[in-house]
Amino acid sequence: MSKFSEYNFKGQKALVRVDFNVPLDAEFNITDDTRMTATIPTIKKILADGGSAILMSHLGRPKDGPTDKYSLKHLVKHLSDLLNVESKSSTTAPIVRVFFADDCIGEQAVLTANMLKPGEVLLLENLRFYKEEEKGDEAFAEKLSKLGDVYVNDAFGTAHRAHASTAVIAKFFAADKKVFGLLMEGEVISAEKVLHHSEKPFVAIIGGAKVSDKILIIENLLERATDIIIGGGMAYTFMKARGGKIGKSLCEDDRLQTAVEILEKAKQKNVSIHLPEDSICADNFDAKANTQITQSDAVPDGWMGLDIGPKAVGIFSEIINKSKTILWNGPMGVFEMEKFQNGTKSIALAVAESTRNGAFSLVGGGDSVAAVNQFHLADQVSYVSTGGGAMLEYFEGKVLPGIAAIK
Ligand code: AMP
Repeated sequence: MSKFSEYNFKGQKALVRVDFNVPLDAEFNITDDTRMTATIPTIKKILADGGSAILMSHLGRPKDGPTDKYSLKHLVKHLSDLLNVESKSSTTAPIVRVFFADDCIGEQAVLTANMLKPGEVLLLENLRFYKEEEKGDEAFAEKLSKLGDVYVNDAFGTAHRAHASTAVIAKFFAADKKVFGLLMEGEVISAEKVLHHSEKPFVAIIGGAKVSDKILIIENLLERATDIIIGGGMAYTFMKARGGKIGKSLCEDDRLQTAVEILEKAKQKNVSIHLPEDSICADNFDAKANTQITQSDAVPDGWMGLDIGPKAVGIFSEIINKSKTILWNGPMGVFEMEKFQNGTKSIALAVAESTRNGAFSLVGGGDSVAAVNQFHLADQVSYVSTGGGAMLEYFEGKVLPGIAAIK
C-alpha cells in the first residue's frame, strides 16, 4: 500500500471511489455538499501531479436501473465549480474540465476515459444503476478497474460495504497501485489513533436515542477507554436497570439486562461509567413543553428526561477536561429543540476546550456531527468523521471491507 501524499500521479489515470451521495431537492439542487467538498483535496492533488481523475460514486438507492432522479449528471456543474474556484479568480490557475459518462462501464465510459488528458476529470454515472455494484460482483468490478491505472478509495462513508467499487475492485490492482485518498487516510489515521494508540485518560462520550444501536461500540470501548459517559435517551435504560424511576423517559425494556451486564463488565474492567446525575425533564415531547430539573433516577410520573441537567454537565465537563483522548458519538439530549440543547452544547464546548489544552478529540456519527456544526465548533475539535455507519462499525471493532481491501 502506498501513501497518498507520496504517490506521484503524473501521467496516470486515477480511478477514484468517492462518496457523492449528496441530498438533492426537487429541482436537483444540492442541499448539502459536504461529501463533495471533503474529497476535493484528493482530486486536486491528482490533477496537480499531472494525472487525470475518473470519479465513481453511488447516489441514493435506485431500485430499477437507470433513473433520472438518481443520475450523477445533476452534480457535474457543482463539481466543476468546486474544482475551478481558483481558476475563476486567477489568470494562471488552469481550468479543470469535467466530463460525464452516462454509464459507469461500457463503450462510452471506456472511450471517454481513454481520451482523458492530464488535468481533466471524468465523472461516471451512478454505480448502483447496476445491481452488481452492491452484490460485489467480480466481473463488474473488473470492468470498472480497466478504466484506470491506479485505484484510489476516498469513500469512507461506504467503507463498511463490500461492494464492487469499494472493496472487490482492489484485487485488480497491484499493491503499489491502490491507495487511500486524503479523506480516507485522515479518517483511518484518526480512528486508529483513538482505538489503538490512545493517550490515557481516554473518555468515550456516547449518546443518542437507543441503547440497542450502541451496545457493540460500548462493549468494544470497555476494552480501551478509561471513562465512558452515557447521555441522551439511552441513559434512562441504564437508570432503570439500576433501579431508578424514569417516568415516561425513553426506555428499551428488552435491553435492561444488557445494561446490567454492561455496568457489571465495566466494574470488572475498571472502566468508570458515568450516567447523568440530573436531567431536564419535560411533561411532553415538545419544543414548548413545561420543564423541571430532577435527579435522573427520580423522574416524576408523566415526565420524561430530554436533556442532561446542570450537575451532569459539570461532572461530565470535568472528566472531559482531564482526558487526553476523547471520542464522541451521539447527542446528550434532544438538541434539535432549543430547551433541550444545553447539555449537548456544553459537552461540545468542553470537548473544544480540552482539545485546546492538548487532548485529541474525534467526533463522529450523524447527530453529534450535526451538533458540533450547529454550535460552530467543528473547527475546534481534532477530527470530525464523515462516515456515520462506517465510523460506528469501525469503533465496534469490525474490519471494514473498504479499508481491508487496500491495506
Ligand atoms: P442516535 O441517532 O441514536 O444517535 O440518536 C439521535 C437522536 O436522539 C437525536 O435526534 C436526539 O433528539 C435524540 N435524543 C437524544 N436524547 C434524547 C432523549 N433524552 N429522549 C429522546 N430522544 C433523545
